[in-house]
Amino acid sequence: MPYPVPPSVRLMPTVSIVEQTMRQARRAVAIALLGTAAMTVAMLAERLWSARALEQAAQRYATSFKLAADVRLTEVELRRAAQMAYITGDKHWVERYEELLPGLTQTIEHASLLAPQEVTDRYRAKTYAIGREIDDMRAQALAALNAGSGASARAIFESERYLNRSRLLSDATEELTAATLRSTENEMRLLQSRSYGVAAGLLVLILGSGTIFWRRLTRSLQKSRGSLLDAEERIQRLASSDLLTGLANRAGLHDTMQTAMSRARRHQGALAVLMIDLDRFKPVNDRHGHMVGDLVLKEVARRLSRCLRQSDLRARYGGDEFVVVVEETEGPDTGRAAAERIVERLNEPMQIDALVVSIGASVGIARYPDDAEDDDELLRKADSALYRAKAGDRGKVCLYNAALDQRLAERTALELALREGIAAGQLVPFYQPIVDLKTQQVRSLELLCRWRHPTQGLLGPEKFIALAEESGLIGPLTMSLLRQACVDLQGLPPQWRLSINVAPHQIQDESLVPELLAILGAHDVPPQRLDVELTETALVNDTARARAVILALKAAGMTVTLDDFGTGYSSLSYLAEMTFDKIKIDRSFVRTLHERSQSAKIVGAVVGLSRSLGVETVAEGVETEADAKALTRLGCTLGQGYLYGHPVPAARLVEALRLRAAARAWEYWEPA
Ligand code: C2E
Ligand code: CA
Ligand code: CA
Repeated sequence: MPYPVPPSVRLMPTVSIVEQTMRQARRAVAIALLGTAAMTVAMLAERLWSARALEQAAQRYATSFKLAADVRLTEVELRRAAQMAYITGDKHWVERYEELLPGLTQTIEHASLLAPQEVTDRYRAKTYAIGREIDDMRAQALAALNAGSGASARAIFESERYLNRSRLLSDATEELTAATLRSTENEMRLLQSRSYGVAAGLLVLILGSGTIFWRRLTRSLQKSRGSLLDAEERIQRLASSDLLTGLANRAGLHDTMQTAMSRARRHQGALAVLMIDLDRFKPVNDRHGHMVGDLVLKEVARRLSRCLRQSDLRARYGGDEFVVVVEETEGPDTGRAAAERIVERLNEPMQIDALVVSIGASVGIARYPDDAEDDDELLRKADSALYRAKAGDRGKVCLYNAALDQRLAERTALELALREGIAAGQLVPFYQPIVDLKTQQVRSLELLCRWRHPTQGLLGPEKFIALAEESGLIGPLTMSLLRQACVDLQGLPPQWRLSINVAPHQIQDESLVPELLAILGAHDVPPQRLDVELTETALVNDTARARAVILALKAAGMTVTLDDFGTGYSSLSYLAEMTFDKIKIDRSFVRTLHERSQSAKIVGAVVGLSRSLGVETVAEGVETEADAKALTRLGCTLGQGYLYGHPVPAARLVEALRLRAAARAWEYWEPA
């Protein structure tokens, strides 16, 4: 059969979300770093380049400036050299002039190279003819100077034409150098502003891409945050819910109970806390396996949901325990009504695959704020009410009741003390003789239990036998007593037998007979020495089982006595049906023997019937000689009562019997 995994078990891949976020964050940081690095490199490169370009431009500017100055200086020098030459006629000045001239041409040439092309072109166009003319005139003037004719040279140099042409050329040159200066200046300005532009562009680029990148990063982080919150919520939900049923678990229950309680406190409302325990769940689980058990639990959760309001809190509290918290909107009966609905729904058979499973439920209810104002206390009280619900007829609903639950708590404490008492050997055997009414010889000792309670002193069986039976401690108790009795028997006459009380519950215990035999065997006590007293209740509950146990006991060699005959159903048919060895007539008949003739008749009839069945009769509660005489007259063979001895511990038994023997000339046995 496929075993369905509840949807809540399928966990979201929370780990990968974390990793994804980490990866995104890492990528974002990497991109940011790379981007910054790229921008920085671009910025640096641009700075370097523009610095170089600016430097070059500045150099050009300086050169142009120097060239302009050189041109002007050379022209002045030339003019002076020419004047000196034609004034002094000194050859030296002619040479100087000739020396300067190519420098000027070269400087102008250089300047024109630095100037923008169109300026150079314009300069060339403008000065081409003039330059030629001036060159010619200079050549003539130089020739004249060389020929020693200063006057004609002077005439040329100072001629209107030469001066005019020189001025034009000088103006053009001036214009050229000025244009060169302007152009380099412009170039520098251009470079500067371009550098600013590039820087601004890069800045805009950085800001723009940064913004886009930031937006994308925050968007993806937002997404991761959403997923993480989702996962966190899921984890929270899982931590507070039961994986199998999807209901709240203990932790979740406490959390939501707190909330519900504070809401109720604010609105002066009330809550009912229902503690639900499934009946017969364990056998289903044991017989059909845990898978079926799980499916049953899931079906229970479904049914709970169906008979409650959506707002009612439902939780799985333990294995087969559920808790429901109901708001008492329709008054104090809301909780009880819900509990009864739940019990009814859970009593209906369940179809689990091919199986039909029948369970049931008991519910304990505690109310907020009447019973308690604290979640733990409420749950504890609902649990104690549940205990009572389960102790009664199964499938019941019980409300918390302080007095009843107090008693229950005491009982629980007593049960614990009894359990520990048995283990600690506080439960000890007392013995009361059963004697032959005729010979007055001891035939058997009835083992009667006493509890040497550490604080309450010696307790009689009426204080704890019923509890031992209900709590399943009667088995261990009986066996502990038998063990002690076997030891005590070793100091007593071998013909004395031991009568042990076996409670009705113990009939159901498969291990009863083997355990009795094991203990007897361990102490070398033959089974023939043991007489087992059973009450009618044991027979009524399960006649077939009782018969089987009686047969087993007898087969093992023990004898069986029907105890307290006449108090219960007193069905004579049991006498015929079951092969008892003895019948104990209840002491209520013996007590009224002398007052009510009815009692004597009944005793007589029982004795008669027993005798006809070959069964011995024991009379209980023989307190007086008169009782003993009357019983003997009625045909009773054995007696037990204060006349012969109170129940005493083994150590006092011999002494008690010796006193009796001295008084009544009983045959007694003296231990070796
Ligand atoms: P029971 O089996 O009928 O035991 C006889 C009870 O009658 C004993 O009370 C005994 O003390 C009392 N008794 C004896 N002679 C007289 C008498 O002359 N007059 C009066 N009024 N009472 C007399 P006890 O010991 O208190 O035991 C009460 C019951 O507790 C027993 O009734 C028996 O049912 C139960 N019980 C005692 N010990 C055990 C035990 O070990 N196992 C089980 N399952 N039940 C036990
Ligand atoms: Ca008895
Ligand atoms: Ca009895």
